[in-house]
Amino acid sequence: MTHGKIANVDLVKQVNSAAVYRLIDHAGPISRVRIAELSHLAPASVTKITRALLEHGLIQELAHQASTGGRRAISLATVTQPFYLISVKLGREELRLTLYNLAGDEFGRRLLPFPSREAANLLAALHRHIDDFMQAFGSGKQIIAVAVIMPGLTDAQHGQVVYHPSYPLAGVPLAAQLGHQLKLPVFIGNDTRAQALAEHYFGASADCLDSVLVRVHHGVGAGIITEGRIFKSQGRDVAEMGHIHMDPLGERCDCGNVGCLETMVADAALLRQAERMLSQGYRSSLANQTLSIHALCRAADEGDHLALTILRRAAERLGQALAIVVNLFNPQRVLLSGALCEAEDIVFPIINQAISHQSLPGFHQGQPVMKARFQHDQTIGGLALVKRALLEGELLQRILEKKS
Ligand SMILES: [Zn+2]
Repeated sequence: MTHGKIANVDLVKQVNSAAVYRLIDHAGPISRVRIAELSHLAPASVTKITRALLEHGLIQELAHQASTGGRRAISLATVTQPFYLISVKLGREELRLTLYNLAGDEFGRRLLPFPSREAANLLAALHRHIDDFMQAFGSGKQIIAVAVIMPGLTDAQHGQVVYHPSYPLAGVPLAAQLGHQLKLPVFIGNDTRAQALAEHYFGASADCLDSVLVRVHHGVGAGIITEGRIFKSQGRDVAEMGHIHMDPLGERCDCGNVGCLETMVADAALLRQAERMLSQGYRSSLANQTLSIHALCRAADEGDHLALTILRRAAERLGQALAIVVNLFNPQRVLLSGALCEAEDIVFPIINQAISHQSLPGFHQGQPVMKARFQHDQTIGGLALVKRALLEGELLQRILEKKS
């Protein structure tokens, strides 16, 4: 007799609890009657689920005067402040840790160098740093999960790293191994995709169900949100926009091809172009300073011809690639993140023009590209992954199964 049946009953429970919690999160304060109407669950089920959510402190009752007068009505709202999580960004040879609560408030932050080493030592060091951080900032706080975000490719569904640009983690079941050591649920994901989800939950695309975030930094990546979820393929990352082929005679890319978008517009590519033009004798205020994207954007803002040429060309390329994405996904909003945004007055109009000329008129909807909100918070994506696990039921169920 059948594990299958038991598993199904558990799954139905998890799905129903999550549906109720989501409604309270999206539409709260909301009454039990209204939850039953919207969820199509029996009133008795709603009562049972909300009782469990109340017992675990995940929601609260708010009493207010009913609009019809007389009897006091009870509404339900989520409680987020007392639940904490640690978001870890496993970057390129550096580790960033932040303690958030579910409301998005920050309670501690740490940045550490994290040199590459073989996989077993890597995991031990990662565990040690998270544990130290937890001791330093998390004592007395109810930590419900850890999220690890990273560049490269992940299989979030199975908690596995597919590829990390700096560490030998391919095929490592990172979520399960760290989770076992930390005795906490661990969720992993790509940093750009997770940022797109954070923008959807808390940021510049919070009012849209369908959006695209493009991040230009070391490489060029995108996160596509469709109907409020990260667009994936078989649980794995997609939207490696940086490797859209743009120029058959272009430069060699890390991926092995030539002329990828990334070789033209990523931070390093722009700095390479600046160096080349300077060495060819172009006059520029950049000649006497250390090159950085920041300096490039500032010089362009001050009218420097070389800086303007480079940024305009990059914006055209980026706009061309974004028009393809708009044609494919018809998003309600396109967000841009990256140091390039410092020159938004120069870059954004060119990108907008490319999108409006090269994508279907009904698709770009006349909506200009917008700056992403979380330009500098590199760990915010982890908060989004934990919130998603709560809304979709996996983490919610683990909290509900704990004795209150
Ligand atoms: Zn490439």
